Amino acid sequence: MAKTPHILLIYTGGTIGMAKDYETGVLKAFNFDELLKYIPELKHLNCTIDSVSFDEPIDSSNMNPTYWVEITEIIENNYEKFDGFVILHGSDTMSYTASAISFMFENLSKPVIFTGSQLPIGDLRTDAKENMITSIEIAAAQKNGKPIISEVCLYFEYKLYRANRTTKVNAEHFQAFASPNYPHLAESGVHLKFYDTLLYRSRKSKHIKIRKKIEENIVLLKLFPGITENVVKSVLEIKGLKGVVLETYGSGNAPTDKWFVDLLKKILKKGIKIIDVTQCSGGEVILGQYETSVQLQKIGLISGKDITTEAALAKLMYLLGEKIPDAEFKQVFETPLRGEMAN
Ligand code: ASP
Repeated sequence: MAKTPHILLIYTGGTIGMAKDYETGVLKAFNFDELLKYIPELKHLNCTIDSVSFDEPIDSSNMNPTYWVEITEIIENNYEKFDGFVILHGSDTMSYTASAISFMFENLSKPVIFTGSQLPIGDLRTDAKENMITSIEIAAAQKNGKPIISEVCLYFEYKLYRANRTTKVNAEHFQAFASPNYPHLAESGVHLKFYDTLLYRSRKSKHIKIRKKIEENIVLLKLFPGITENVVKSVLEIKGLKGVVLETYGSGNAPTDKWFVDLLKKILKKGIKIIDVTQCSGGEVILGQYETSVQLQKIGLISGKDITTEAALAKLMYLLGEKIPDAEFKQVFETPLRGEMAN
């Protein structure tokens, strides 16, 4: 008889486990045992569940790479014992964390599903129960004794997404996430429907590799009409800077002013990497399509293609941490590593 899947639930914080502080009226994270009391249904799922919690659950606005490593180590230390992992996380920075975790695990062969909610679990109209129960079902879903999902995903409001393709798009609606450049991987309705051809498959024969070196000396610079030389210069000349995610217009376009291009050239010469990503929520960077991106291509900007800003930041931090040699960096960044960008 097939063995019942064993799932590890990892609680990091977020609205899902928050309650109102009666004195101040603000939402604060409460402890995990409290949270589990609200979902007696978990006992009826066709899997066994263990749980572990951050000592101090956090609002995800306080998330950072030190916590990413903590999440990674919880999964690493339990990787052989469990069939799947569900991570409860605040929605605000969930796409950043989940993108980072996707890079930190190479050759993942088990599901890692991020979820959370817009309303606390104790709220009558909460979206937390469905999100959590279905995430656990997805993490436990198997075909011929093998997990259906073997990548880092994000589940929210009836849809399963590739995590590193997502972005938070709404602070109020239950449908808080979108994956503008890649279709959702599964959908929960009367049946749980997986779209097999869209799922990521790592090369099976390869052993899992876990990467924990993250370079934090990077910056995100979003262009806007009127941005001054002074501002661009002070951002690009930050001491110790190793990489820049430059949010450009449309298909990767930027001003052609000499001062701007000269500044970019100057920092590229110092070995600082610049990734061109689009400010548009959908579509991709095509360097050289317009006159306003020809010079960016010439001087050697890296194309982020159709990557999200969240995944671009995570990939840059990861690849810089891995100390990819300068001569290979552009080619490695422009190659999809975990399904985060088009080929
Ligand atoms: N501020 C919360 C957080 O990200 C919002 C949420 O969980 O939805 O932790």
